[in-house]
Amino acid sequence: MRIRAAVEALPDYSAGRTPALIAAQGGPAHSVKLSGNESPYPPLPGVIEALTRETELNRYPTPYADDLRAALGERLGVDPGAIAPAGGSLQLCRSVVEATCDPGDEVIAPVPAFSAYRMAAEIAGARFIGVPVLGQSSPAGPGLDVDAMTAAVGPRTRVVFLCSPHNPTSTALAADDVARLMSAVSGETLVVLDEAYAEFDTNPDTVRGMDLVDSHPNLVVLRTFSKAYGLAGARIGYAVADPDIGAALRRVTSPFSVSRSAEAAALASLHPRVQPEFRRRLTEVVDERTRLTEELRRRGFDVADSAANFLWIASDRAVQWAHGLERRGVITRPYPGLGLRVTVGCESDNDAFLRAFADVAGN
Ligand code: PMP
Repeated sequence: MRIRAAVEALPDYSAGRTPALIAAQGGPAHSVKLSGNESPYPPLPGVIEALTRETELNRYPTPYADDLRAALGERLGVDPGAIAPAGGSLQLCRSVVEATCDPGDEVIAPVPAFSAYRMAAEIAGARFIGVPVLGQSSPAGPGLDVDAMTAAVGPRTRVVFLCSPHNPTSTALAADDVARLMSAVSGETLVVLDEAYAEFDTNPDTVRGMDLVDSHPNLVVLRTFSKAYGLAGARIGYAVADPDIGAALRRVTSPFSVSRSAEAAALASLHPRVQPEFRRRLTEVVDERTRLTEELRRRGFDVADSAANFLWIASDRAVQWAHGLERRGVITRPYPGLGLRVTVGCESDNDAFLRAFADVAGN
């Protein structure tokens, strides 16, 4: 048996400990999970009914989720050929790299960032170049270092990953910064704008990938149903790009990657009838985000201006805080030496976090 060296060297994907595991290992019986940037709500109305109606599970779905592409195309005003769906946008990070990189080609991304960018590069045998985010402790929080990203681009750069709002730092990218970066890279390099959290971004001056796709044939926008739509467990995401790139991404993504159930759940979530409830939930998360940010700043913590459904508290004590919080039944995600990422949950979960955090971090 021979496993490729690049694959042998890969760490397992780590999503941290679950409440069930913590309880089984003698910790608190009912932990609050604020580590996965998930939605605190059950599926939108109509989703469970759509799942129970989807009984033809003996039949394959269409290879590339045709009904969903048609619905998304109509909603976004793009050709369904421009859309590449997959079982989660994480898969699409890999598809983008596999469609463009030969071994030794380069992939650039800010660091820290969603770990899938590095993972995608390493699996494909591409070289990953991480560019530190700028201004960790600026008042608005960390942002994109456009000059350093541009300087890192070389003749073998095939993909530049951007993320807005950025995971883990929570801030959205300024439209001007993305325009500057796009004009500095050649049309041969794909720029991937990962908008997993875009629905939570209420600032009109930040980048909107869908407005740029038509005029930028080397741009790929990634979206997901995992966050604002609350379907992380169903696994469904999609890319929007120039139709030639959309076709290439569909070809490298496993056919049937979107199950019949996942497609039914996504279609039900897009139904016009549920949009008022969808918007109500978004507003609730954004209001809770404001409440948490104000309270933590009042206590003296360095909290970034979040445009997502999570907060970033810059600190070199993040690991210590996360351990203390976990012992008190609140699971968060530390980035060693940099900061703590805390998902915005429902009101009672957020209150549990605020109480535990006062114990752990003081103030
Ligand atoms: N992009 C970013 C920035 C994320 O944080 C995540 C989830 N943690 C994803 C993509 C993955 O989303 P999906 O569930 O669609 O694979």
